[in-house]
This record gives sequence, C-alpha cells and structure tokens, in this order.
Amino acid sequence: MDLEDKVSRLKEIYKDCVLCPRHCHVDRTKGEPGYCRLPDRIVMDCAVAHHGEEPPLSGRNGAGTIFLSSCNLRCIYCQNYQISHSVTGQELDARQLADVMLDLQKRGCHNVEPVTPTSQTPLIMEALQLARADGLTIPFVYNCGGYENPEIIKLLDGMVEIYLPDFKYGLEEDSVMFSSAPGYPRFALDSIKEMVRQVGDDLVLKDGVARKGVIIRHLVLPGRIENSKEVLRLIQKEISTYVFLSLMSQYTPIAGVRNHPILNRRITRDEYEQVTDYALDLGFDNIFIQDVSDLALTPDFDRDHPFE
Ligand code: SF4
Repeated sequence: MDLEDKVSRLKEIYKDCVLCPRHCHVDRTKGEPGYCRLPDRIVMDCAVAHHGEEPPLSGRNGAGTIFLSSCNLRCIYCQNYQISHSVTGQELDARQLADVMLDLQKRGCHNVEPVTPTSQTPLIMEALQLARADGLTIPFVYNCGGYENPEIIKLLDGMVEIYLPDFKYGLEEDSVMFSSAPGYPRFALDSIKEMVRQVGDDLVLKDGVARKGVIIRHLVLPGRIENSKEVLRLIQKEISTYVFLSLMSQYTPIAGVRNHPILNRRITRDEYEQVTDYALDLGFDNIFIQDVSDLALTPDFDRDHPFE
C-alpha cells in the first residue's frame, strides 16, 4: 500500500471509528460522538515553538508543537486537562493543518509534533502528505498517550520519523482507576513494539537534534512505584534496553484530584530515585532523568513542559 492508499484507508475509519482501543464504532462523518467526542475535522488549540520537550526535540529553536483538543485517555490527573478534556478549539481541514505545519518550519522549529494525535490521525496524515509535497522537510513526531490501536500504528509506517509515546501503566488496575482504559499495558506494549519495528530503537541525532527514532515517556505517579517498575520490566523484556526513556518527575495534583486518596500529592525524591535506580539496574542505557533537586519547589508544569 502506498502512502496515499494508507491515508485513504485511515480516513475510511472515521465512518466506523476504531482509531483507538476504545473501538467506539461510531460514524464520525455523520457527527456521531465517540468517547473522544471529536468530529472528523481537526480540532486544534494552538501551534507553538515549544522549548520544554526533551533536549533533542526542542533543540535551539523549539519543537513545532501542535496542541490538539481532546484525548482518547482523559486521565483524571492530566497535567494538560484544559486542552485534553475539551473538544473546543479551531476546526481545520487537512489543507489548513498542512499550512500550520509549514509555518512551524518557517519559524525554524526542528520538527512538527501534534500532541495526542490518536483520535485525529487520518486528517493529520493527510495534512502531512500535503505539507511534504509543499516542501516540509523537518521530522514528524507522533506524540501520543500510548493507548493506541497497533493496527493503526502499522498504517503509519513510512510517514512518522519520531515516535514519542507515553507508557503510563504497566498495571491494568492503574489504567482502569486513573484513565478508564482497560487493556492499556498490552495496547501500549504492542503499539510501541510496532513503532520500534518501523524506526528502530535508537535516536538518530544531527547536530544534537533528533531526526529519527523513539523516546518512551513515563510520568511517575505518587504511591505507584510498582506501576512504574512494571512499565520498565515490560520494556526491558519485550522491547529493548537501548531505547530512550524519559522518566518524568513533575506530577502535580490538579484541582480535580486534590482530595484523591492517592493522587493528592507530588511524588517524593525517594520515589523518583527508586524508579530511576530501577531503570539503571535493569540495564537501560539511555535515560532522560529530570533534576530532582527542585522537586518540592517547582511550580505547576503542564504535561508537555517537563524539561523547563
Ligand atoms: S478515536 Fe474517539 S471515537 Fe474513535 S475509537 Fe477512539 S475514542 Fe472512540
């Protein structure tokens, strides 16, 4: 199947949506709402040069981050909930999104990086092909929450240069409790395996900026060290210890979970170090580790500003 056929196949899926593991089977072309409540057009919050991603993605000029509305996970603690829990934003067609991508390149961004693309993948990929035809040369980054349909990820082969998936949960009970996402560990694992199959488990750099590869992100949650350790064990056992990990410490309770019995506090330095030490013990070679000296002092971050 060539790339044009893949985009056509993806767009067909809007009519019986199985873009993510929720498998809503709604016809989004007729306005039927699935779990994500998104239409069959792009809904975008904003597009910015973003300096808060991992250093090889932000580089000097910033990642070309496209914040998309709504998310197929809607975690109860989401650090970016104003955007991810909302379906409001600018409605765009593929041509308009292609122009957004080209504008980010013109502004010197090192990549184009839609955040939470899962539910909007078909039109994003159509936009990417239009932008490529019009001179987009910077890498495309697929920055997702990890609750992916592996069959959809297979269709992205040849279009994505860099995958940036979260691997949030190794324990099913945590994925159900915090994100109402049954089967998350298996869907994430199978999807990330496919991502690694497509682009390798290395991160290819040019002048310190990422050109191709995978970075797996994991946000450490308070009191859920066993969940974090299971994520690491799964990656070690079934993917690679060479793949780049980004272990994030910036979890901050949002208003909605300030009274939650588990999620009502930040993580401690000891918790973070237990996770990073475990990753090192398992033999991971490439880990982005955050500065823990400021853990108790740093102000609220949002989900995509982990390295500021
Ligand atoms: S993308 Fe949205 S409508 Fe489609 S299966 Fe996922 S949650 Fe349901």
